[in-house]
Amino acid sequence: MAPALSANVLVLNKFYQAIRVVNVRRAFSMLCREMAEVVHIETDPHTGQARWQNFDFDGWREISQLKAEFEPDGFDWIHTVRFQIAVPRIIRLLGYDKLPRQDVKFNRRNIYARDGNRCQYCGKKMPTTELSLDHVVPKSQGGRSTWDNIVCCCVRCNVKKGGRTPEQAHMHLIMRPVKPKRSPVINIRLADERYSSWKQFLDNAYWTVELK
Ligand SMILES: [Zn+2]
Repeated sequence: MAPALSANVLVLNKFYQAIRVVNVRRAFSMLCREMAEVVHIETDPHTGQARWQNFDFDGWREISQLKAEFEPDGFDWIHTVRFQIAVPRIIRLLGYDKLPRQDVKFNRRNIYARDGNRCQYCGKKMPTTELSLDHVVPKSQGGRSTWDNIVCCCVRCNVKKGGRTPEQAHMHLIMRPVKPKRSPVINIRLADERYSSWKQFLDNAYWTVELK
């Protein structure tokens, strides 16, 4: 089923630190090869208390049968010929003890996502094809290619600004550019209720995650 297959799974290292996000296929492949286990978190609707349970693939398959019967709406489902299995939200790599990357990758996609595809001078939101990247302090004046000196900019503003600083061009940034604390992709997922169990692993800004 397409919606289930497009879901994402948060991957933790052995110490329960978020390290990346993978697609469903990759998550099941790691579960089947016993490289990972499911970390299932259920929140009691009355007390609000979270209960953690860890399952290997067979255990998760068994639990899935119960969930399919009693909470079919609480999960995304993968249907095979012989059985159906719930898509886990979080898995934990049993033998992986490396620490998470601390940096969000500095690339065009993440800069556009940070700026919400909005020109940082005129504030207009535009399709990616109509945007370019602008060095706030131009390279010719010693400006560097860093998170705090590169912004999304529409073609029109880019031409208007030319090789000048915003002050020299009498233009104003709508926001001061800073380095994002976590991958913009994670932020989009967090807005979705289905991924609420990810929050406790991501609240610390130190745990920034990269989409693979
Ligand atoms: Zn503009």
